[in-house]
Amino acid sequence: MTAEALAGAAYLVAALLFILSLAGLSKHETSRAGVAYGIAGMAIAIVATAWLMVQDAIFSPAGLVGLVILVVAMLVGAAIGLWRARVVEMTGMPELIALLHSFVGAAAVLVGWNGALFDSGLEGSLRDIHHAEVFIGVFIGGVTFTGSIVAFLKLSARMSSKPLVLPGKNVLNIGALVLFLALTVWYVITPELWLLVVVTALALLLGWHLVASIGGGDMPVVVSMLNSYSGWAAAAAGFLLNNDLLIITGALVGSSGAYLSYIMCKAMNRSFFSVIAGGFGIEAPKSGGDEDLGEHRELDAETAAEMLANASSVVITPGYGMAVAQAQHGVADLARRLRERGVEVRFGVHPVAGRLPGHMNVLLAEAKVPYDIVLEMDEINDDLADTSVVLVIGANDTVNPAAAEDPGSPIAGMPVLRVWEAENVIVFKRSMASGYAGVQNPLFFRENAQMLFGDAKERVEDILKVL
Ligand code: NDP
Repeated sequence: MTAEALAGAAYLVAALLFILSLAGLSKHETSRAGVAYGIAGMAIAIVATAWLMVQDAIFSPAGLVGLVILVVAMLVGAAIGLWRARVVEMTGMPELIALLHSFVGAAAVLVGWNGALFDSGLEGSLRDIHHAEVFIGVFIGGVTFTGSIVAFLKLSARMSSKPLVLPGKNVLNIGALVLFLALTVWYVITPELWLLVVVTALALLLGWHLVASIGGGDMPVVVSMLNSYSGWAAAAAGFLLNNDLLIITGALVGSSGAYLSYIMCKAMNRSFFSVIAGGFGIEAPKSGGDEDLGEHRELDAETAAEMLANASSVVITPGYGMAVAQAQHGVADLARRLRERGVEVRFGVHPVAGRLPGHMNVLLAEAKVPYDIVLEMDEINDDLADTSVVLVIGANDTVNPAAAEDPGSPIAGMPVLRVWEAENVIVFKRSMASGYAGVQNPLFFRENAQMLFGDAKERVEDILKVL
């Protein structure tokens, strides 16, 4: 068997492992196995690719240089990757993922440029197809690169989460797409380098604009959409490099990311098309959410503990603040303690609570909260009206009644946990500041709501001392 055939077989095994990995990651119970399959698939792919380069190195000096570059790049990349993975906080994951997507975009642009600068040796229609691949790869890669950089800046609070609203933004986006199509045809007919320079600049600007135009509330969809774009960028690079594994893996990431974006859009009552088209057709919000909403009420940990001890049913709705405070272990203890006292305790998890889909589920699982009392928003929403006490732990946008009641709100239409229907609501947060979408929350001013100010972990521990 030749080295190529052996590597091809290894690539096929790796692709199957990636499919198993995706299947495993779709359920809590099998997610660890899913991660293991993914690692195994990637290890096989790397070894097979390195093996091919070793074959090249044996037969040519250029191949040897390539192998040395590969080894050095892998060692440096692996060292940086290991260091980042070890030090990253769970709350910093989304921005790290966005940054990693930008690398895929940048790689696709570089592979495309490489394909344009070096003679492919192809003739006739194959040469035309090659030029189209170069152009499309550079375009998708460029959009992914700057889009991911903006997502990184927004998620890490280095850039405002408010949407950028340029006059005629939809015309700008559509104009850029039409221009891209026209330039592609031109490049296939006369492959001049300046056309590639223009499409690179166009893609970088479009990526920046698409993501900058999307508001904080819609960022979860953007993260998964960029995941999808990075997959298509990798697939485009795979066509240019004639690498089947890159094509299969890119298509898997691209299609699963697109499907995840679609599910998230449905869950958040957003139009899929509007979000992928940079907020196409979304009007500027009529209310800023900073109107005077009246007075809020406060309570202390002792009073909260007393309310909980007398409650018959409690629902805990965690959000990003629980992750920041690392309060999940205390919250799990609180749930256990209350259940021992005969109080019915359940958790209600919003699909985009935190900064990553599944963020809260991971934290609660880490704190050993049983899966069967952790319910999705749709499963718990109808029970909230019959709940004695809801504890809102570091959540804000995901429990904001304005989404359901104020059509002018920037988060209007986004489904939320209807915690305000409960008999009593206790909100754990440090101040009256707004959540990620930058909208004030009328819940905090409702008759049945009381604020328990301070770090969520400390306040939960204060309650545990009293209970
Ligand atoms: P929010 O960002 O709306 O609110 C979190 C709240 O936690 C803040 O109001 C903050 O208030 C409070 N908080 C922060 N630190 C602490 C602490 N140490 N102790 C107590 N409270 C704290 O979070 P949600 O989870 O409700 O909503 C998620 C938001 O993030 C949505 O807008 C969503 O669209 C967006 N998003 C979600 C992504 C996803 O995939 N899930 C990805 C990107 C964005 P204070 O400062 O006063 O303490």
